[in-house]
Amino acid sequence: MSITVNPIPENERGSCPKELAFGAAFADHMFTQLYDDGLGWHDAVIGRFHDLKLSPAAAVLHYGQEIFEGMKAYRRPDGKVSFFRPDANIKRFNRSAARMVMPEVDEAVHLEALEKLISLDQKWVPSEPGSSLYIRPTMIATSPKLGLGAAKAYMHFIITSPVGPYFKEGLNPVSVYISDKYRRAVVGGVGEAKTGGNYAASLLVSEDVASKGYTQVLWLDAVEGRYAEEVGAMNVCFVYGGERVVTPSLSGSILPGITRDSVLKLAPHIGFEVEEARLDVNTILADIKAGKITEVFGCGTAAVISPIGRLCFKGEDYIINDNKAGPVAKKLYDSLTGIQYGTAEDPFNWVH
Ligand code: PMP
Repeated sequence: MSITVNPIPENERGSCPKELAFGAAFADHMFTQLYDDGLGWHDAVIGRFHDLKLSPAAAVLHYGQEIFEGMKAYRRPDGKVSFFRPDANIKRFNRSAARMVMPEVDEAVHLEALEKLISLDQKWVPSEPGSSLYIRPTMIATSPKLGLGAAKAYMHFIITSPVGPYFKEGLNPVSVYISDKYRRAVVGGVGEAKTGGNYAASLLVSEDVASKGYTQVLWLDAVEGRYAEEVGAMNVCFVYGGERVVTPSLSGSILPGITRDSVLKLAPHIGFEVEEARLDVNTILADIKAGKITEVFGCGTAAVISPIGRLCFKGEDYIINDNKAGPVAKKLYDSLTGIQYGTAEDPFNWVH
């Protein structure tokens, strides 16, 4: 199937705002394709960014049958634009689709849509240091049917939004509250999938944590409330003795982050050991107190690496590395962004 490209006239196109808030402005074009039972995917089009027309009975609006992805396009020093591991994003999109009983998309069509869309909206890829064009592939169930069951019709779309650097003043540590009350996901549930309901369910917790003066929540496993899983919408890493990066093993309720996977592959390449393990929160806190854990950081597409300077559990604060960004987080941040922005070598062929 080929993608029809309907570029909008030059004089009707917008321009990239100077001040970039996360996900507030959208580039001129978007990609859409439709799925119907029996027909498969059809009508793949790149055209003007537009509002969607949906039946108020569309399944997505009632039962949340929806998935999405988050990736970025980066401006390189030579002016060209690249993606970071788009294949991994597309595969995760299809894994999420399978979990939510949605049709998988053709990987080649999705990649071609990304290439054509971003090439058409190239001027929306900002060039200020640390900025990028955030890309949001999404799929929704569109069947107008209130009976509960997998929908028969779907829309797959891709929109993009220019974003500034996550940390304007460099790598600032955030304060994280370990939730003793709320849980994000359970093994056998949908925590491994990137589906909207997971994020809707986290909003109350984010508000709660913010009211206590913390910026993120650290989620514990839902069965025992004991093992570290993720931080907000990032995976989490603990650094032992300034040299060993330990992250929770993929338990079945953790989203398998592409940044997490990249850290696991890149860290040994730049001189650190890595380990995936089940991490008991009591051990973590004791190891912070004893000075064995020298750094903690979150990792994800939006912030890349986000140092954590303070953890709170059951009313007690634990300060990590004097509440400053540590050397391992800095080195990983520099190495990873170097590859993403094309200022460093790409030993793993991650750049597309
Ligand atoms: N965990 C959750 C719950 C997330 O939403 C994200 C962001 N996609 C991540 C981890 C990090 O994943 P990635 O590195 O692929 O952005």
